[in-house]
Amino acid sequence: MNIVVCVKYVPDSTANPTFNSSDNTVDRVGVDGLLSELDEYAVEQALKIVEAGEGEVTVLTVGPEQATDAIRKALQMGADKGVHVFDDAIHGSDAAATSLVLAEALKKIEYDLIVFGMTSTDGGMGVVPTMVAERLGLPAVTFGSEITANGSTISIRRDGDSATETIEATGPLVLSVTDQTGEARYPSFKGIMAAKKKEVTQWSLSDLGVDASQVGLDAAWTKVSSFEARPARTAGVIVNDEGDGGVKLVEYLASQKFV
Ligand SMILES: Cc1cc2nc3c(=O)[nH]c(=O)nc-3n(C[C@H](O)[C@H](O)[C@H](O)COP(=O)(O)OP(=O)(O)OC[C@H]3O[C@@H](n4cnc5c(N)ncnc54)[C@H](O)[C@@H]3O)c2cc1C
Repeated sequence: MNIVVCVKYVPDSTANPTFNSSDNTVDRVGVDGLLSELDEYAVEQALKIVEAGEGEVTVLTVGPEQATDAIRKALQMGADKGVHVFDDAIHGSDAAATSLVLAEALKKIEYDLIVFGMTSTDGGMGVVPTMVAERLGLPAVTFGSEITANGSTISIRRDGDSATETIEATGPLVLSVTDQTGEARYPSFKGIMAAKKKEVTQWSLSDLGVDASQVGLDAAWTKVSSFEARPARTAGVIVNDEGDGGVKLVEYLASQKFV
C-alpha cells in the first residue's frame, strides 16, 4: 500500500509563538518550528500499515522553507520520501486554500491511502482532511483511535462521548488518526542517518498548476483582524492546610461555582 501522510510545520508552542505585526499572520519564520506533534501519530500509523504489508510512505507538507524540518523528522521516523510545496504566494492561506494546494499535490503522487493528524497544534481546526477528501472525491474516515488495515479496506474505532463507533471504508481514502492510537516512535540513530539520503522533492504553485490568486492572505476567506497576548498565568490560590484544608478547598470550589 502506498501511503501519503500530510504533515504540518507549526511554531514550537514552547518557543513563544506570535503573530507578524505586519499582516497578523502566524510568525512561522522568526519562531522555532517543528513537525506538529499530532501528525507524528499519523506518520506512526502509516509506517505500521506498510511494515505489516508492503509499499512506501511519502510525507507531504505545504509550508515555508523551514518546513523541511517537519519532513526531515518524519523521514527519520522511517518514512521513505518527502514532498514539500513551497511558494511565497501561499503565505497566510486559510484552510480552504491549504486543502486546495494539498489536493493538487496529491494528484501528482501515487497513493492508496492518505493519512492526516486529527488537527494541527496551531490553527487547530481539524477540517483539512475532509476538505481534501471532498476535493479528491474520496471517502473520509476520521478521528480513528484504532486503525485496522485489511488489504485496501480500512476500519477504525472512533471513541465518541456517548458511543464507540467502528467505521469502515475501502481505499483509496482519506484517514485521520488521533493521539489515542499509541505512542509514536522516536527516530533511531540509524533512522536519523538514513534520512539524510532520502529524497525530498520541492514543488511550487506553478508545478501544481495552482494560480497564486487562489491562495495566500489576499484570497483568504478569514483574516485575523487583531491579536493580543494572553495574560500570563497567575500562580493561583494556595490553600494552607492547618487541618481545615478540606473545608477551605470546598469553600474555594463553591466560591468559583464549581460545586
Ligand atoms: C491561530 C490560527 C487560526 C486560524 N483560523 C483560521 C480560520 O478560522 N479559518 C481558516 O480557514 N483558516 C484559519 N487558519 C489558517 C489555517 O490554520 C491554515 O490554513 C492551515 O494550513 C489549515 O488549518 P489547520 O492548521 O487548522 O489544520 P487542521 O484542519 O487542524 O489540520 C488537520 C490536519 O491536516 C494536515 N495539514 C494541515 N495543514 C497542513 C499543511 N500546511 N501541510 C500539510 N498538511 C497539513 C495535517 O495532517 C493536520 O493534522 C488559522 C491559523 C491559525 C494559526
